Amino acid sequence: MAEIMNTNLKAAGGVNEALIVNTVRRRGPISRVDIAKLTGLTAPTVTNISGKLIDAGIISTYMIGEYSGGRRPVLLKANPEVANLVIADVRSKEIIGYVVNAGLEVKKQVSQNTQHLEKDEVLAILEDIIRQCCSSAEGQSASAIGITVRGPVRSTEGLSLFSPTTGWRNVPLKFIMEERFHLPVVVENDMRAMALGLYYYGPYREVKNAIFMGVGGGIGSGIILNGELYRGLGDSAGEIGHSVVDIDGPLCSCGNYGCLEAMASETALVYFMVKAVKEGRSSLVSSIVEGNIEAIRAEHIYTAAEEGDALAARMLRHVARYLGFGVTNVINIFNPELVIIGGGIVRARRFVEEAMLQVIRERALESCFSNVRLEFSSVGREAVLKGIVDLVMQNIMALTK
Ligand SMILES: [Zn+2]
Repeated sequence: MAEIMNTNLKAAGGVNEALIVNTVRRRGPISRVDIAKLTGLTAPTVTNISGKLIDAGIISTYMIGEYSGGRRPVLLKANPEVANLVIADVRSKEIIGYVVNAGLEVKKQVSQNTQHLEKDEVLAILEDIIRQCCSSAEGQSASAIGITVRGPVRSTEGLSLFSPTTGWRNVPLKFIMEERFHLPVVVENDMRAMALGLYYYGPYREVKNAIFMGVGGGIGSGIILNGELYRGLGDSAGEIGHSVVDIDGPLCSCGNYGCLEAMASETALVYFMVKAVKEGRSSLVSSIVEGNIEAIRAEHIYTAAEEGDALAARMLRHVARYLGFGVTNVINIFNPELVIIGGGIVRARRFVEEAMLQVIRERALESCFSNVRLEFSSVGREAVLKGIVDLVMQNIMALTK
């Protein structure tokens, strides 16, 4: 099955062909006129290539567009069944596997808990999740595999450089899984995938320069410069979480001290809360975990804050100030149009936003800050899935050239 689909996809093998397919996938249903405007290709080129892509079954014509006088335009949309993909999202406490088609329709979903496991066990679970997906009725025809992981990734080599929650260091995920499953594998950092998902499929695609910061168990980011994901020389750009914001700060998962991630992530939030409770401060959080202080999680702190707990709210303001330092650095370095905060912390927006903004207003350079938009997005993992599917589809098309 995979063979047949790849043969079809050969029609999308040229540079202009890929440009049109990507535009239709991300923006469809869309008219040929709008494709020409967005891609800079001439109308006859768009008509010619889209005809070939329709014949190959990669895109198809869609309903008639809105009538505004003159001829009604025929819209184009991507054929969602052009490829099935297997995606594995390696999260802090679990791995979720999906069989999803090119139209982002999830056909199967499986998951396994990975808490308290050794790095080899997590790797075995990843393989098992991918196997379950590939051998399922929905996944047998899969054309490629996509994997998202936390921590720095060298995407071109498919290497997980280090991943704090799994304990992986220099794990060649692409090599391992391609050997096991005989399908092309794309590996990406989850926050960069989230940035791409939000950027290509969200309301932000008119923006040229944007920074997406994911604040959860760690802090990662995706940097969009001139409409493209900035990857850096070693393919590791965006590790804002490991910029130092307090030289005397606590140990970070990377081995350094006082990184933004160690001061302002959910892990940091829990660390500061546990410390305060151990020092004898009272909080609703203690009763939520029934006195088991080691069981405190970020969600407990959010719940306590929502129920009026003063210490929880104070701890949130504390990490929010450091998050403000991180965002200030980003604003001063990139002078972006837009900064988006995503991840688990978004649930506590009403407790963190003002403290964060106060720091940014005080610290950011006026020339960098005056026109920046700061937004919160609760889309999260859905955007990670969209982003990795987009990357895998780009990869499939590049392979058929
Ligand atoms: Zn660090």
